Amino acid sequence: MAEPLRLKAKSASPGIASGPAFLAERPGAAPAPQTAGGYGALEMAIDISIGELERLAEGADPESRDIIDFQIEVLRDPSIAEATGARVEVDENVVFAWVATLDAYIGELETADEEQMRARAVDILDIKNRVLGALAGTPIADFPPGSVFVGKDMEPSRFLAHDWSKGGGIALFSGSTAGHVALLARAKAVPMVVGTGRFSAEDGDPVRVDGDAGAVVLQAGRMLIPPLVPTQAPAGDTQIESVELRTADGVPILISININDPAEIDSLDPATAGVGLMRSEFSIASIADAANEERQLAIYRRVLEQAGEKPVIIRMLDIGGDKPLVGLEDLPALDSGLRGTRLLLARPEIARVQARALLRATAFGGLSVMLPMVTFPDEIDRMREIFREEAEKLGRRSLLHRMPPIGMMVEVPAAALMLDTFGSAAFFSFGTNDLTQYLAATARDDLEADAGKTAPAVLRLIAQAVKLAAGKPVSICGDMAGDPHYLPGLLAAGLRHFSVAPARRPAIRSAITGFNADGTRAAGE
Ligand code: PEP
Ligand code: MG
Repeated sequence: MAEPLRLKAKSASPGIASGPAFLAERPGAAPAPQTAGGYGALEMAIDISIGELERLAEGADPESRDIIDFQIEVLRDPSIAEATGARVEVDENVVFAWVATLDAYIGELETADEEQMRARAVDILDIKNRVLGALAGTPIADFPPGSVFVGKDMEPSRFLAHDWSKGGGIALFSGSTAGHVALLARAKAVPMVVGTGRFSAEDGDPVRVDGDAGAVVLQAGRMLIPPLVPTQAPAGDTQIESVELRTADGVPILISININDPAEIDSLDPATAGVGLMRSEFSIASIADAANEERQLAIYRRVLEQAGEKPVIIRMLDIGGDKPLVGLEDLPALDSGLRGTRLLLARPEIARVQARALLRATAFGGLSVMLPMVTFPDEIDRMREIFREEAEKLGRRSLLHRMPPIGMMVEVPAAALMLDTFGSAAFFSFGTNDLTQYLAATARDDLEADAGKTAPAVLRLIAQAVKLAAGKPVSICGDMAGDPHYLPGLLAAGLRHFSVAPARRPAIRSAITGFNADGTRAAGE
C-alpha cells in the first residue's frame, strides 16, 4: 500500500481532524449564491413570496385566508411596484427601494384613524420581510458533516452554515492565517491549515488535517485512516471558574469573548465578563439581510437574552474591503475601497436599518454598540446623529428603544495616534488584526506576512493610545489578545480587558496569573 503523503502547510487553527475530503472546486460544487441585485431579482422574490403565500392559504382557516389574500393583493398591486421602480431609477439599491416603499406604506397604516387599518400594518411588515427573505436567496450548498473541506479558499458564510459538531477540518491551497475563515475556525476550534499548495485528491479520499504541526496528510489508495475525532473544547473550558481574575500582584483583569455567529453565545460561561465583540457582519449573508430590521433584531435579541446581565458589545457591519456583502458589489461606494463605518456613512440606508434594530435590541440586555474601522472623530458624530434620527422615528411609532453607548474599534493607525480627539466615543477596543496590517503596509491575506515582526510597533502604538484614552473604558479584541505570547506586552501597555475567541479563553486565563500588571513575570514563575 502506498505511503501516506505529508504536505507541509501553515497552521491556521490548532487541532487534528480526519475525514473524507470534500472538494470545493468540483465544477458545480459551489453554486454562487443568488444575489439580491437588480429589479428582476425583486420581481422574482415577489413571485416566490406569492407562491409561498398561496401554498399557506391552501390549508388555512377562513380568517387566516383573508389575511393571506390581502397580502397577495398588496404584492400584486402595481402601485407598489411602480413606487419601488421610481426609487430604483433615482439610483437606490433595489432592496432598500423595496424597504423604503413598504416602510412608507406601513407608516401610513400605523397612523390611520381606523383601528382596522392600523391592524393591517403588521401584515405589510410580514410581506416586507417575506420578500427580503426570498431576496436573500438560497443558502450556499453545505457539505457533509465530518468531512475535510479542501479548496482554494472558503467563504465565511459557508463556514458558518456548516455543522462542525461532527468534527472535520479545513485544508486550503492558499488562504491566510489572518483571514476571516481562519479567525472563525480558531473561535470554533476547527482544525485548519492553509497554504498547502494545490494537491490532487478525490472526493471522499481520507485526509488528515494537522493544525498543530501545520500539515495535511493524504492517504493514497483510499486506505483507512483512524476514525474522525469530533472537535473537543480544550480541557479546562468546562471547569467552573470564578469571574474574578487577577494578575499575580492582584490587579483585576476582565476576559470577554468574541463571537461571530449568534450560536457562539452558548459558550458564554459564568467566568466570562461578557461579549467584547460580536462581529455582526457574519450574521448578515446578503444585502437583503442588511435591509431586514426584524431579522437583525431577532439575532441581537437572542444574543442579549442569552448573555443575561452581562454586557454585550455588538459591532456594526464591517463590510467592504475583504468582507464583501452579497448584493452590494455594484454600488459606487465599494469602488472607492470604503470599509466599515465610512462605508456605512456612504450608504446610510444600511446603517439606518441596523441602527433601528440595535436601538430596539437595548430592551433585551446590556447592549453597547461599536463602530468598525473608524478613522476620524466626525464619523462617530455622524453615526450618532443617525442613531438619534432613527430613535426619533421609533419613538413616533411607539416602539420601545433606548440609546446605547457608542464606542469604537481602534484599528486604523490614524485613529490610534489621535485617540484623545475622539471625545464622543464612549469606549475603545483595539483591533490588532487590522492595526497590524495597516502599520506594516501588508495585506491581511498575505500568507507570508510576519505579524510577529510588526508586534513591537503595534504594542508601542497601543501603549501610547491607552494613555490618550482619558480614562474611558479600553479593551482589546484583536487576535493578539488571545495569544499568551503577547500578554506581557499588552499588560505593560496598560490593558486590563481582553476579549478573545472562546477557544482561546482558558489559555489566556491561566497565563494571566503568571504575570504582574506591568507585564513582568511573577516571582517563582
Ligand atoms: C481586528 O481588526 O483586530 C478586529 C477585531 O476586527 P476584524 O478581525 O473583524 O477585522
Ligand atoms: Mg478589524
